[in-house]
Parts: sequence; C-alpha cells; structure tokens
Amino acid sequence: MKDVRVRFAPSPTGPLHMGGVRTALFNYLLAKQTGGKMILRIEDTDQTRFVPGAEDYIKESLAWTGIVFDEGVDGKGDFGPYKQSERKDIYQKYIKELLDSGKAYYAFDTPENLDKIRKEFEAKGERFMYNYGTREQMDNSLSMTANEVGERLAKGDPYVIRFKIPENQEILMQDLIRGEVRVNSNTLDDKVLMKSDGLPTYHLANIVDDHLMQISHVIRGEEWLPSLPLHYLLYEAFGWEKPQFAHLPLIMKPVGKGKLSKRDGVKMGFPVFPLQWQDPKTGDIYAGYREDGYFPESFVNLLALLGWNPGTEQEVFTMDELIKLFDLSRVNKSGAKFDPEKAKWFQHQHLQKKSTEELVDLFMPILQEKLGYIIEGKAIRDYSKKVIELLKERATFVKDFWDQGAFFFTAPTDYTPKAVKKQWKAQTPELMQEVIALLKDIEPWEATHIKEKLSDWINSKEIGFGKVMQPLRLSLVGDLKGPDLFVIMEMLGKDETLRRIERAIKKLSK
Ligand code: GLU
Repeated sequence: MKDVRVRFAPSPTGPLHMGGVRTALFNYLLAKQTGGKMILRIEDTDQTRFVPGAEDYIKESLAWTGIVFDEGVDGKGDFGPYKQSERKDIYQKYIKELLDSGKAYYAFDTPENLDKIRKEFEAKGERFMYNYGTREQMDNSLSMTANEVGERLAKGDPYVIRFKIPENQEILMQDLIRGEVRVNSNTLDDKVLMKSDGLPTYHLANIVDDHLMQISHVIRGEEWLPSLPLHYLLYEAFGWEKPQFAHLPLIMKPVGKGKLSKRDGVKMGFPVFPLQWQDPKTGDIYAGYREDGYFPESFVNLLALLGWNPGTEQEVFTMDELIKLFDLSRVNKSGAKFDPEKAKWFQHQHLQKKSTEELVDLFMPILQEKLGYIIEGKAIRDYSKKVIELLKERATFVKDFWDQGAFFFTAPTDYTPKAVKKQWKAQTPELMQEVIALLKDIEPWEATHIKEKLSDWINSKEIGFGKVMQPLRLSLVGDLKGPDLFVIMEMLGKDETLRRIERAIKKLSK
C-alpha cells in the first residue's frame, strides 16, 4: 500500500462543529495506525465567508482533543504552504493547463444576467443548469472566437473559469464506506473553478492540493459526497492518480430528523462545539465540551462511536486503543444519532478511570475559585481526596465534587425549604440540643464510634432513627443529600459539627 497521508482541511468560516472534530479524529486514527502522516490544511479561498478567530479556534480545539499534526500550517512539513490563500500562484499553473487543453473555459456572464436566465427557466417550470445543454448560448469563450476572448480579457471584463463537464459520461466511483457510487455526468453543471477575484474555488484548490500533498485517503463528511463526481472528473482531466475516498455518515439530531445543528444544542442544553465559542458578529456564546467539564478523552471516545463500532461490546476506549482498533470498513453508511445522555455516560466512565490523585489536581482550582481564596498544602489535598473518594462513584464531572460536596468545605448558609418543612418539627430543637450534649462527650471522634453512641441513644429514647438523623443531616449539609452522615461528621470534626447544629437550631427555630 502507498504511504498513508491524510489531511484535515477545514475552512475558517466559524467554529469547528463536533462533526468536524470527528472527521479530524478518523483521519488521525488511520494515520497513527499505519505510521502515516496527518496534515492540517486551511482551506480559506472563500474570502466572503472568512470569520475572524476561526482558524485559531480550530487549532486550539484539535490540540485540546489530542489530535496532533505531522505537517501543516504551523510550519512543519515539506509540502507547504498549507494555507490555500498563500498558494494562489500554484493554482494559476493548473487552471492554465485546463484552459489550454480545452477542459475549462472563460465565462463572462454577469451575476445579473445569470439571475435573469435562472428566472426565465423558473417561469417555464424548469431549473437552469450551466452545462452541456446551455453553455453554447452563454457569454463564454466556447461561444466566441479566440480574438474575441482576447479582447474581452484585455478590456478587463470580469470573468470566472468553468470546468467543461464531459457530456453523457457514466462516472463510476469507489467509496471505502459506501462501495460503488454511480452518476451520469449530465446531472452535473459546469462548476466554477476560478472566481473573478483570481482565487480558486474549493473544488480546484482541494484537488490540486490533495494531489501535490500526495494525499492517499480523503476522509471527510457525507456532505461532500455530491462533489465526488466532479472531483473524479478533475483528477481525470489532469491525468492524476486518485486518492481513496471515504465519506463519513452525518451526525444526526437526538430527536427528529436532520443533521445535528448548533440550534439543537442551544435548545436542549448540550454542547455541539469542542470549545466555547463567541460569535464575533452577534456576541452569542455557544457551549463547549471543554468548558462544560468534559475530559478530552471522553470527547474523543464519544466521537469515535458516532458512526463507528469495534464489532464488540466494548464502548470505553482510550485514544491508544482506538488507534489499534479503528477500521474504516466498520464505519456505518447511515447517519449516527447523537445522544447527549450517552455523551455524559462516556464522561462518567472516564472520570471513574482517573486516579484520586489526578482528580485532586483537577479539583483544586475549582475549589479555590468557589471558596474565593487560595488554599494549598497537604492537609487540604488529603481532605479533598477523602471527599472525592466518597463522591466519585456518582460523579460525572470534576465540578460535581463541589456541587455534591460543597458542605464538606463550607457550612450551609441556607437550608432547602422543602426538606425543612418535612424534617424540622416543633420538637426538633430540643432533640438537637440533646444531640449536642451527647456528641460533646464522644471520644475518639470516629465515624463507627459516633454511630454506635448515637444509635444507642436513639434506641434508648425509643424514637425513630429518622427523627434525629434527618434534622441532623439538614443541619450539617443544608439538604437531605450526601454520603454517610457519620463519615461526614468525622470529616467535619467535632467542633464544626457542633457549630453547625447550633446554627441550624438558631436559624430554623425562628
Ligand atoms: N474545506 C472543506 C471543509 O470545510 C474540506 C472538505 C474536504 O475534506 O474535502 O469541510
């Protein structure tokens, strides 16, 4: 097999959608698996769609995801420049080749004129196509003499260069995921290859660059499948060997039909972008996996299973495992439904795989931010470690350790009203005073010991366990949630435990 050289070729027209990251990932997996090369090429020839900040966003997203490039816009590789706007001169040579061999032609039709013709066709109930049936009647170099063309060019009339699609040709294509795809060339129109601004369109630049950069496999989204016949014809026009093609299935909405869009994310409250993105025009902010607390490895894992499966029951993978197991022939043809709950499930799984030490490292900055002051050292690390061990099994994000365990670090300032109503009764303050008296004398202050003493006392009083334990929990936690209360008491320490009960008596008995 030829050396594997794959590329990810985004256009900086906005933030990278998670589907784009999946495309990059599948390319990367193939490159790593085969010892091939992964290339980042920026396709920025459409100046009208340029969005400031998008290129940096794309690079940052890929770096966060863990997709590393061997060649690309950051100066690595011998096939550069890797940014199409810096390759303008290269395309000139190839467009000239097509013009000289009669496979492309100048077209001087003005946008107004094209629009008028389109409307005339529509009025007849037909769709206008600039193709074998109409091109001879249009304002182009096919319908004029060489002299006339020369004059028009010398005059500086604006023009585009179109590809002359061969008439009535069966185009038989191979796709690694879809198998054979057939199209008749008469269904295609004479696509513009070079625009009036002298820059190539996506189609020309893409083919020329894939050829010059010796790309072996073009792996991209299904939305590019309709362009494949044109790309085939272009390769043939140049007499170049084609790369292999694989068109990945679309990522679909969680409910209903259609492609997953940024609006779905906003509506249903999940990210569709790797990193948070602020639209420079509207100022709108879109959620990102990173900012929402996903680990890059969870993101990679969930993306890998959107459209691919290993053929076994295994669902949790590291990048290294994916590199070993990935196989283009196990990518589905049909769209992959995105399930935001499943996305969280992957994050939960990867959090469980992390060591407590790692989780402490990740938790410390969150803790400091929440507390509003810097706290460091072995004592707080050890304490946080215990908290994390208690909460880990049910946690999905690192921030859950705060959301579920803030009471370990700060005394509750308010108490869930519903819980108060249910558990804080008229006789509760008196009972809690008795609990304080009892707890004061407990030594050593250990969960099992506290449990023993408190249970004996409750039994001797012949009252229900809940009558004591629920208001006690409310006093310490501010709510009726949390792990084993005796463990909480041990961790808070005797003084803090007593203080919290006293405070609850004062606050809740008004
Ligand atoms: N620039 C195209 C994009 O934005 C690349 C498509 C391809 O990979 O050929 O998706």
